Amino acid sequence: MDKLIIEVRINEYASRRRNPHVPFSPGEIAADALECLDAGAAIIHYHARDPVSGAPSSRAEDYAAAARKIKAASDLLIMPTLGAWTLPSPEARMSHIVAMAKDPATRPDLAPIDMGTSNVDAYDARGRRFTTDETVYLNTTRTLQYFARTIREAGVRPVAVWWNVSAIRTTAAFVEAGLFAEPVYGQIVLTEGGFFAGNPGSVRGMQAMADFIPHSARMPWSVMCAGGNLFPIAGAAIERGGHLAIGLGDYAYEELGQPSNAHLVERIAALARACGREPASPAEARAMLGAG
Ligand code: ZN
Repeated sequence: MDKLIIEVRINEYASRRRNPHVPFSPGEIAADALECLDAGAAIIHYHARDPVSGAPSSRAEDYAAAARKIKAASDLLIMPTLGAWTLPSPEARMSHIVAMAKDPATRPDLAPIDMGTSNVDAYDARGRRFTTDETVYLNTTRTLQYFARTIREAGVRPVAVWWNVSAIRTTAAFVEAGLFAEPVYGQIVLTEGGFFAGNPGSVRGMQAMADFIPHSARMPWSVMCAGGNLFPIAGAAIERGGHLAIGLGDYAYEELGQPSNAHLVERIAALARACGREPASPAEARAMLGAG
């Protein structure tokens, strides 16, 4: 079986309230990424944040500064997020990727595309009510095609992010239509913590998605859990040939004593080795994902 690719999802828009180790500034993101590399990670996924408040930043310079530091010190695969859905247009959501790709010192290796539209309202289980009720994360098929073409022209590889089976089917159509070139790195998103856009964060939730990954296409896949603990699912993903994406961006892991991202990666790497799969180096991950 292939080695295990570990992606670390370093910050998303997580606060430091539940775990103080969430990196904000480009320097903090880069230092954390390099620690995670030593612990066994091959891919670093990050969001640019205001260095002090942690508020989302859409400034291309903030994205580029983190990438420049990481690339100067390592061969980690760099995967910045696309701009938030709150930005005014698909072009605005993609602009920092295009800008970074022009300079070899900041060029991203991967960029994630959420392959469909979802309701992303939050449910408060204690209060038994939805705290938002009209939040749609809109990704029309036209927008997805634009993302696919723009990413390819920039020399960056897409990550097809799957919140549901429909997204997997759309990805297969993108491969067939020549919009994505194989291998396509796919990512199963499970959702907990009052978000119902994905399947539950359980082995069954993962398997119900994995059953629909087409065998006819080369699609190495990983699993992540937004808002929940990934460890109950990790062993099953390792056994099924999947890869793992974990980090403080998705969940604070208070039950593990507020670990750092590198501690999480260390634990996943140990679990993989115990199951007989070595973590992939960045160079090995590049070969597996076609991200030369
Ligand atoms: Zn993200």
